[in-house]
Amino acid sequence: MPTFDAAPTALIVHAHPEPRSFNSAQMAVAAQALRDAGYQVDVVDLYASDWAPVLAAAEFAPLGGQVFKPQAEQMRAVRDGTLDEAVKEQVDKVLAADLLVLSFPLWWFSLPAVLKGWVDRVFVMGALFGGEHGFFDAAALAGKHAVLLFTTGGSHEMFQPGGAFGPQDEFLFHIHRGMLEFVGYQVLDPVVSYGPAHLDDEARAVALEEVRKAVTVTAENARPSR
Ligand SMILES: Cc1cc2nc3c(=O)[nH]c(=O)nc-3n(C[C@H](O)[C@H](O)[C@H](O)COP(=O)(O)OP(=O)(O)OC[C@H]3O[C@@H](n4cnc5c(N)ncnc54)[C@H](O)[C@@H]3O)c2cc1C
Repeated sequence: MPTFDAAPTALIVHAHPEPRSFNSAQMAVAAQALRDAGYQVDVVDLYASDWAPVLAAAEFAPLGGQVFKPQAEQMRAVRDGTLDEAVKEQVDKVLAADLLVLSFPLWWFSLPAVLKGWVDRVFVMGALFGGEHGFFDAAALAGKHAVLLFTTGGSHEMFQPGGAFGPQDEFLFHIHRGMLEFVGYQVLDPVVSYGPAHLDDEARAVALEEVRKAVTVTAENARPSR
């Protein structure tokens, strides 16, 4: 009897406030490239779904202790099966996906607050790392891949060594190492469109085609070996 592998799965978490932005178009191109590569794609649009980004005590009420210790409460909620419904839904999506794509415009060299808040609430101690899991290679997402898909205001030259903003790998470190590798992911090369607002329509079309090609490579590199 032949066996048929299930399609690989990708979760795109998108954080741009304007659906008509280049960034949102870039996300749609990436989603289609993944589908064309055989992935089942799930998109979480944080602005459209009005994601609440603040990790706060109310989510864990009644608290297990006198004072609010976020990670202790996360561990307790995982153990007792009392995680907030919205958070649990996202944790399940993360655990189910072979590839996580964080899609965003670069804001202050980092993630928009709504996406940082998604990480704050969804990268739950006890579910993705810590507790029965370890950290980095021993964390729950070990063996899976993650990639950043973003746009910038600055040009490509500005992100080179000696450029005004300096090498992009340096300021992506807190996301790559501090968030994604910390929970076990193997991080793939980011897919970036530099300064789309400063391009003409023709150059923007070329940039979207470059995204399609780069994400096709990402899809191959993230394909699970089952
Ligand atoms: C708070 C804040 C902090 C920031 N910090 C930084 C920073 O640290 N470093 C940095 O480099 N930049 C920074 N920026 C700039 C930001 O990264 C860029 O403005 C953003 O990434 C540009 O992408 P966009 O999709 O928002 O552009 P948009 O302005 O939406 O898009 C550019 C153009 O593309 C057009 N377009 C839309 N769809 C398509 C399509 N399908 N095909 C062709 N064209 C299309 C749009 O109509 C528009 O004319 C910051 C911005 C903010 C608001």
